Amino acid sequence: MDTVTQLLTRCPLCFMKLFVLSENHEVEKRVAVTPEVAKKLVGIGHEVYVESDAGKSAGFDNEEYSSAGAAIAKAKDVSSCNVVFAINPLQADIINEIRDETILIGMQEPYSSSGNIDLFLDRRITAFALDLIPRTTRAQYMDVLSSQASLAGYKAIIEASSIFNRGLPLMITTAGTVPAAKVLIIGAGVAGLQAIATAKRLGAIVSAFDIRTSAKEQVESLGAKFIEVESTEKIDGVYAKEMGDEYRKAQEMRLRDVLPSQDIVVTTAQIPGKKAPVIIKADMVGVMKKGSILIDLASNTGGNCELTESGKTVETNRVKIVAFDNILNFIAFDASRLFAKNAFAFFELLTQKMADNGDISAIDDEIIKATLVTHNRQKYFGGLTF
Ligand code: NAD
Repeated sequence: MDTVTQLLTRCPLCFMKLFVLSENHEVEKRVAVTPEVAKKLVGIGHEVYVESDAGKSAGFDNEEYSSAGAAIAKAKDVSSCNVVFAINPLQADIINEIRDETILIGMQEPYSSSGNIDLFLDRRITAFALDLIPRTTRAQYMDVLSSQASLAGYKAIIEASSIFNRGLPLMITTAGTVPAAKVLIIGAGVAGLQAIATAKRLGAIVSAFDIRTSAKEQVESLGAKFIEVESTEKIDGVYAKEMGDEYRKAQEMRLRDVLPSQDIVVTTAQIPGKKAPVIIKADMVGVMKKGSILIDLASNTGGNCELTESGKTVETNRVKIVAFDNILNFIAFDASRLFAKNAFAFFELLTQKMADNGDISAIDDEIIKATLVTHNRQKYFGGLTF
């Protein structure tokens, strides 16, 4: 079996054997490569092996992959491939099946899965973390965080509106008027902005908070109200950071004013590489309106509400606090389509750069450097410092 380097020496851009892993469908319905993307990969000369039923829970059958020119494979066949695509960090038993020098492309959660990193080093696996793609214009075609967050923000409003036992738009009927619902979005990043746009389309009255000053213009451009917090602490850049006491106190006071009038609250506040900030304390839920819904999209990093329990709905004081295990499972078909396109764009860039420079660690490209986690028994956290 050829190594990646030997394959590249023969033909830099073709003859790679690619494997698409099946995720654990109990917790993850998405698949990293769809039949559409498998067809593109086959079209540029790669052999594509898809673990049987890898796409089934997202709505893609084995037959569609076969028609796209991919081979349906068993899990153990991963050991004969050079590149592995997956969405989530791999289980240790799968890492042990992968041959040395394999290139792994997916979300690696490098800040929390140190066990995997040690295994990658041990097995000389070259791991790329798509969750470290820089948030730049050039990288936007590969930005899985944005594509997935956007769908999560949309789905949060759809799910909230179905749990909420009232209407969202103003409806004037002969039997009376249904008032427009008030929706508050905390964290106006990619998910938050899509949640704002969706809630606006459904006719709700929407307002939003963010710690970044640039978010104000984006919130207002979607027709929502930006809630100002009186504080000297400001963030001008793209990446959020933990706020100091002064800001946190001012934000809490402002929220205590705003929360009692809200019907739906969606929290999305995250700090890259860190635990999510707790913004709604337990006693603040007490000031919320009876029958209101809080969807906590930050639950996988600890949650923005003190009462959030990941994967559960907690009801207190007739307020429902909802934290889905993985909201993208409710929109797995589209989430997989977008993820696969992002992963393909990244792989295309990587193979082009590898053709220019066989040594991956020497590739001088901000996207490759930022995402490279391990290579040839070395650990890299090249690009971003948080
Ligand atoms: P994220 O998921 O890390 O966080 C969500 C939001 O929560 C952010 O807007 C953040 O400012 C906010 N937040 C953090 N702490 C908060 C607090 N205590 N209170 C209120 N809000 C808080 O963010 P994201 O959606 O991944 O986006 C991060 C940034 O990257 C945004 O500025 C976005 O516009 C930018 N971005 C740029 C590009 C590009 O240029 N191509 C692509 C994607 C994202």
